[in-house]
Amino acid sequence: MGPRFFKNGTIVSFDKVTESIKVLHNASLLTSDDGIITAITTQPETLVLPTDTEIIDVTDKIVCPGFVDTHRHTWMTAYRTLGSNIILAQYFSWVSQMSKARNSYSAEDIYVSALAGYAEALNGGVTSIVEHAHHNWDHDVMMRGFDAAVDSGARIWWCYDIMATNESFSGGEQTKALLDLAVRHRSTRPDSAVAFGLAWDSLSFTPPDQVEPTRAIIQSLKPEVITVHTVGPGPWGSGNSPTLAHSYALLDSPNPPWIFSHGGFVTESDRAILRSTDNFISITPESEMHYGHGQFSCCDIQDQAALGIDTAFTFSGEIFTQARIWLQAERARRYNAALKTAIPDRCPMTVEHAFLLATRHGGRAVRRDDIGVLTVGAKADIVVFDGESPNMAGWTDPVAAVILHANVSDIRHVLVGGEWRKRDGQLILKEGQWEGLARRLKEVAIRVQEENRTPPELPDNIWGNPLTTPEVVDIRRGKE
Ligand SMILES: [Zn+2]
Repeated sequence: MGPRFFKNGTIVSFDKVTESIKVLHNASLLTSDDGIITAITTQPETLVLPTDTEIIDVTDKIVCPGFVDTHRHTWMTAYRTLGSNIILAQYFSWVSQMSKARNSYSAEDIYVSALAGYAEALNGGVTSIVEHAHHNWDHDVMMRGFDAAVDSGARIWWCYDIMATNESFSGGEQTKALLDLAVRHRSTRPDSAVAFGLAWDSLSFTPPDQVEPTRAIIQSLKPEVITVHTVGPGPWGSGNSPTLAHSYALLDSPNPPWIFSHGGFVTESDRAILRSTDNFISITPESEMHYGHGQFSCCDIQDQAALGIDTAFTFSGEIFTQARIWLQAERARRYNAALKTAIPDRCPMTVEHAFLLATRHGGRAVRRDDIGVLTVGAKADIVVFDGESPNMAGWTDPVAAVILHANVSDIRHVLVGGEWRKRDGQLILKEGQWEGLARRLKEVAIRVQEENRTPPELPDNIWGNPLTTPEVVDIRRGKE
């Protein structure tokens, strides 16, 4: 890859001193041949471009940082549309890594499904992904999921979730495979965009005297992030929480950072710990609305929150859409609270807030100042919006244009570390072509979904916690 010069666009840059968005009009951006931003300027005549620089005219276009997804499960892509009305209480026994549906996937199917999931992310401007890799029931399934991450060309923190209760692929076997894989990958691909993380969903089931073995795994693996699902407390019971992790002194060191996914019921103690240890929750707006995780106290910790997708097979897979959904949901929630007494006198959340949650906060969540921002020294993870479609033309505020008006078809270019992943609207996979991958995904999806069309019986409880019936919508004519 050579240096690239994005000439004369509107650049959504970032002011590190004020921690705020800095919009530059008629600006240009230069990347180095090792994928770093080396200049952002409104006076390009002052730059001396290397002779082999590729020039990309971005006149009338919006240049943004790549969006950061802090929670995703790409192996599930082949379920797409199967879970259109699924609830979380069904998810575990129907489609999760613990369900019998997993037997419908061969290792090759997992590769196809995961790679297609990464393709969707890149096509939608998601350049950084914290992958919660819970395809953990079989050695080859594990490995082919990892291959998909590497072959995607996305920037990925690949967080494998060791499932110790799995009989067919024991916790010990998984641990050995993971540590061997990390050693092999790091030695053979030192410049890889795929970093190792660790997912630890069994944390809350781990007896206190059994925490040490996982601490030893962390010391060996040296993960760049640790992530867990956090849906409790509330009706889900206690579960993984910042307070629990902190009680084991797991958050004492600044590295690795921890990401607690969802966090809809995080307590005051959890929130204080997140702030004092500078760790993050990953709000996955559409997922939590879709499945019914609950979004309560996550709203009160947005200074330590980033955004994620979760199971993209059930809904939209791009982060700027999630930012839009979250923005409007938060506005509605805060307006509704105010409207109980009087007319609101201000807008409670801005498009800038939403943009920062989708970009800079994702970088902060993985403790990286060079991710989720367009600044000199940052990774050249870049998304260029066209800005001239019927839904975008006429914009004067690029942040509002992206957060409230853009759709995926407006994304002209996507680069990860300065390498093309979408160019002139065409996805560029690191391995193979989208058309071939789409065909293979369709074959896998039809088979997997046919074999798992009917959800199993609902359990009486989830982790010992009772179920209840929400008020159900009735849209028939004549209903009160
Ligand atoms: Zn999840």
